[in-house]
Amino acid sequence: MLDPFGEEARRLVEEEFGGITELLTIIPSYVSEEEALERVSFDWDHVPRELLELEDIKDLLTFYALLGALAFSPYGIEMELVREANLRVYLERIKLSPSLEGLSVPLEKVKRNEIPPRDRAILEKTHHREISGGEKEKLRLAYRVHLSRFLSLWDGSLKEVYVRKGYAYVTRDQALELWKRSFERNFERAVNLLYEVRDELPNFYRKLYERLGEIARERFRERLEKFGRAEAGPLRFDLFPPCVKTALGGVPAGLRNYAITVLLTSFLSYARLCPNPPRRDVRVRDCVESLDVIEREILPVIIEAGNRCKPPLFEDQPHEIKNIWYHLGFGLTDKPTLEDSGNSPWYFPPNCSKIRANAPELCKPDRDCRNIKNPLTYYLRKLYLESRRENQGKGQDEGSEGSGVRGDE
Ligand code: SF4
Repeated sequence: MLDPFGEEARRLVEEEFGGITELLTIIPSYVSEEEALERVSFDWDHVPRELLELEDIKDLLTFYALLGALAFSPYGIEMELVREANLRVYLERIKLSPSLEGLSVPLEKVKRNEIPPRDRAILEKTHHREISGGEKEKLRLAYRVHLSRFLSLWDGSLKEVYVRKGYAYVTRDQALELWKRSFERNFERAVNLLYEVRDELPNFYRKLYERLGEIARERFRERLEKFGRAEAGPLRFDLFPPCVKTALGGVPAGLRNYAITVLLTSFLSYARLCPNPPRRDVRVRDCVESLDVIEREILPVIIEAGNRCKPPLFEDQPHEIKNIWYHLGFGLTDKPTLEDSGNSPWYFPPNCSKIRANAPELCKPDRDCRNIKNPLTYYLRKLYLESRRENQGKGQDEGSEGSGVRGDE
């Protein structure tokens, strides 16, 4: 398979398997953990032939097995491992393929005489004798893509491309660059989609995720030793999603209980104590050894936000504090001990669809909300991007290389 997000793959997922959730349900019967892990365990400089020649269905099942595993931690080193390794596999296959048609980017071959000869002569340097045939081939505008699709993927300068009659004309290298962007975007979208159904996934994926973690720690060992891993840590208010920022600013009477008790309490507690819960029924005491962090860093923020509401929530409804502890999993109390955690469920942040249904005024999406299904993943994604940026900065300072796919196409 050339592209796991291309036309043929989409058709197979929808028509042959009945959708992505159904596909994930049957995968454990057809794919072993080892087979899925082969896709990330090879020497990244040499994609093995077995992976390049994998039969289409097997290719799809093993790739989606890895995506299913990532539903448990969408923005960690495991995601980076799966994305980078599979980018290499697919990129290598695409390079070996004579045609780029059928990819997730709708590339069309440019027909003869479609580009005026004068423009072609200038852009492709066809009359330059000093340029070798191979170099000229690299300059050839071989594909075109509709401008709207092109603009959604391209973040270089528009001066680098030839635009004519609603199409961007690109070289093969530029086409591959577009495909990489599209792959990364589809990859992130799929992982976010699966995050919503992770509690329903068979245990196979949890185990696969744990093994991915082992391989990722080994693969990125040097970097982790140097820069550490982004884990539970002080809250970064600047990276919060718009709905949480709105709740923090205080809201009117009709929204107070939902914004403060349901959204803010669950969001702040998971974001600070347990961003990637190991299982569904996790308790606070599984993640911390004392109530200090809750009492010093989480509760004051919730109470201040409650006080900013109009009218102030806890003045009006002092018993609501007990409800906060209830939502944190301590039962209905205002003097909990750590041992009480587990007396009620620790509520997980509601998905965006629930927030939009129950409190539409809270959801004012910004551009980072695109593809996001839960406010916690918004935050995890921003933390991930932030730490990547910081690591790249430090890496450059120290003259080291980043971990991205090398620009070798
Ligand atoms: S899309 Fe989701 S994360 Fe973004 S503001 Fe709406 S509810 Fe919050």
